[in-house]
Amino acid sequence: MNIALIAHDSKKELMVQFCIAYCGILSRHTLCGTGTTAKLVSEATGLNIQRFLSGKQGGDQQISARIAYDEVDLLLFFRDPLADKSREVNEIDMLRLCDVHNIPLATNIATAEVLIHGLERGDLDWRNIVNPQQR
Ligand code: PGA
Repeated sequence: MNIALIAHDSKKELMVQFCIAYCGILSRHTLCGTGTTAKLVSEATGLNIQRFLSGKQGGDQQISARIAYDEVDLLLFFRDPLADKSREVNEIDMLRLCDVHNIPLATNIATAEVLIHGLERGDLDWRNIVNPQQR
């Protein structure tokens, strides 16, 4: 599965801790992320993560483009609801594109926990039919 990781600044440490906890599961999948998030997670875990631009430079839009092509199978986007809203339009559109393609999406760690366990259990295996070219 292709898993995309994004975390707002105040949630980056949480994302790092989440990825350390689930490193074993994540290592069996193809990972990408916005620049700083991907850098911090790969440094902390050793996971191989395709790094897009930083969110501020358009990294979230690069991930949105992959979502638009239905090439992302799971989006873990740890959002800070109190963060600067200047890029919120792009972010809301990313969430909209997930809904267009029924891409599983977590915007907080509680949902991410459920989805990562579901991923491990095979609950997301239907994505292999939707997105077979990624295998
Ligand atoms: P970053 O982008 O991982 O490059 O910081 C995430 C964000 O948009 O805040």
